[in-house]
Order: sequence, then C-alpha cells, then structure tokens
Amino acid sequence: MSNFGVGILKRVIDLLTYGVAAAVLFWVYQFRLATIEINSLGIAVVFFVLFEFAYYWHHRWAHEVRWMWATHSVHHSAATMNLSVSARLGATGLISGSILVFAPLALIGFHPLMIAFTLAASLFYQVFLHTELIKTLGPLEWVLNTPSHHRVHHASNRQYINKNYGGVLIIFDRMFGTFAKEEEAVKYGLTIPCESKNPIKIALFEWGRILRDCRKATSLFQMFGYMFFGPGWKPKQ
Ligand SMILES: [Zn+2]
Ligand SMILES: [Zn+2]
Repeated sequence: MSNFGVGILKRVIDLLTYGVAAAVLFWVYQFRLATIEINSLGIAVVFFVLFEFAYYWHHRWAHEVRWMWATHSVHHSAATMNLSVSARLGATGLISGSILVFAPLALIGFHPLMIAFTLAASLFYQVFLHTELIKTLGPLEWVLNTPSHHRVHHASNRQYINKNYGGVLIIFDRMFGTFAKEEEAVKYGLTIPCESKNPIKIALFEWGRILRDCRKATSLFQMFGYMFFGPGWKPKQ
C-alpha cells in the first residue's frame, strides 16, 4: 500500500514535472546540432544505445549525487522486492533536475518526444525486473538488465552497493566497472532505513536528512558537500 501511495503521489506531481521536463527538452532542441529522423533500423539502434548511455549516467548520478539521490532513494527504501516496488518512485524529480541528463540527446538532434517515448518504454521494461520469481535469464544476463541484476541493484549488502545502474542493457555497467553478479542473498532497502509507511514522509525522507545535515554545517563548503557530494559524505574531522 505504501508503494502504491508513493506512486499515486508521484503521478499527480508528474503532471507538473513532465510539463516542465518537456519544456526544457523542447527549449534545448531549438539549438540542436542536426535534425535526426529515426527512419532506419541503424539509426534506431544508434539512438537506443545513446539513450541507454544517458540512462546509465542518469541512474548513476541519482545514486552518487545526494541532491539527485534525495529523489531516487525513495525507490530504494522498499524493504521487500515485488512488482509494486516499480511504482515506488520519488516525486521530487523536478527539484533534483534529473531530466537535464537527457538534454544532450535533444542537443544532438533527437526529437524530445522520441526521448520521452524511449524513457517510458525503458521504465515499462524495468517494471518486470522487480521480482524474485525469475532467477536467471541465461545468456541474456550478459547483455540485458535482468531481475537478478536489479535485485543486486536494490541491495544494501556492502559488495552490492552502487552496482548495476543500467536500464534495459547491462553493458555500460560492465564497461564502467559498476557490475556485480548476484551471489550472496540480497538484503533489500537503505543502509539507514526509512521506517515510515506514510507516502509523504517516504517521499521527503532524504530531503529531511539533507536539511538536518545542512543545519549542522559550519561552512558553505560543508553545506555544498552535504547537498551535492555522495550520500554518505561527511566533513573530515
Ligand atoms: Zn537505483
Ligand atoms: Zn528498481
């Protein structure tokens, strides 16, 4: 019920978020370097791989930059794994500015609607990664992001943290050294758990922690660190 509550809250706020995100992409698209029509299989494949590359960094920064983690950590605060976790997404993407990671695709010359459609299709594929029912997909595990890879991504076990950021493909994790194979049993959830079942408290959990850390800061540098460095960052004693 918490997962669906968080999901409904996000969908309502998305009416605004997606409006602003579309406006940003269309604004950037005015300055495009070329106009690229997706009118052949070759161009479609190139676009898909470029999109996956952007998605990889979008997701990686959503974990490694606390300002973006504040939104994305909502998805990771679920302590169990089933399809409903795919609805549990942060509602504060507008504040985190996540859409900016996809803006270079519009600048290259891919139409904003194509970017939006591919993002929707990728997220739809990812719904089915949130399950314990599928153990392995055999040789597809080499190329695709699979339920097994995504269970690792949701784990708080030390060796699994910040691994498997891919959307549909897992190849960029293998290339950039963030791949981990599912071996020991997965412990789901955050290292500092969010105990609340209230969707609004869940959506604002990490923002509250950032605010409390910023109040403790004794310099502007520390405040910047608490907001934009990695989620576990602390000033040196
Ligand atoms: Zn994630
Ligand atoms: Zn997930």
